[in-house]
Amino acid sequence: MASKLRVDFARISLGYYNWVEVREMMLRRSSILFALVFVAISVAACAQPPAPQLPNTAAWGYYGSKGPSNWGRLDPAYSACSKGKDQSPIDIRGTKTDRALKPIEFHYLSGPVTLFNTGNTIQGIVGPGSYIVANGVRYDLQQFHFHRPSEHLVKGKVSDLEIHLVHKSADGKFAVIAVRVNEGRVNGSLAAIWPSLPKAPGATAPIRDPFNPLGLLPTDRAYWTYTGSLTEPPCTEGVQWFVLEDGTELAGDQLSAFAAIYQDNARQVQDPHGRKVESSE
Ligand SMILES: [Zn+2]
Repeated sequence: MASKLRVDFARISLGYYNWVEVREMMLRRSSILFALVFVAISVAACAQPPAPQLPNTAAWGYYGSKGPSNWGRLDPAYSACSKGKDQSPIDIRGTKTDRALKPIEFHYLSGPVTLFNTGNTIQGIVGPGSYIVANGVRYDLQQFHFHRPSEHLVKGKVSDLEIHLVHKSADGKFAVIAVRVNEGRVNGSLAAIWPSLPKAPGATAPIRDPFNPLGLLPTDRAYWTYTGSLTEPPCTEGVQWFVLEDGTELAGDQLSAFAAIYQDNARQVQDPHGRKVESSE
């Protein structure tokens, strides 16, 4: 009984069950202990996504003395930005298909999202429970954000926008899914977010309706993958990148609405230093 209860607790805290199912389980088991667990989790789960935190490292940006060419000098914590040999983004070319690469499993949940203007982009901070499994490793979704124009190039070609969905594994490794977006039809998922974009640095805004980040992805999720870095300070390396080969679209006025807040927040492509990009198909 005790071990069974522990398993249920873990699954609930990861968002596997909805509240109706949990309540039914509670009634079935008629367990005082289980009731206490339910109350404790209910209090925790009603919370919005974690509050955004500004790092206590040097301010950086995309222009002038705080711009990308100076990031490595702004703070010792940012030294990888100038000294790293596995930096991102890159220009994707000369890719090789690796049949052993598996499709990414997406396990994203609909839930509350808080938008946060970091001063360099707009981040969507998600609650716990959404994750991917990429080549056998589970990575939990932490946040998604936007770059204009795209950071990754494909054979030298830039896209109008790039979405980064940032994930972290239990042992602290990052995996980022990149979606390139070009001007075209209205993007329904972005339409759910765009009216709430917080314009001032430091500002936050909740999205009123439950949001599923799956809507940000194209239907075909074949990908290019390589090992790189975060594309902003501290430029941490060891990041597994999954740049989706297919892109999505957004309307011209959706693009302008983002550009009105961040006109240019893309790091330039970095030297691949011999790194190879593999394609899943
Ligand atoms: Zn990014």
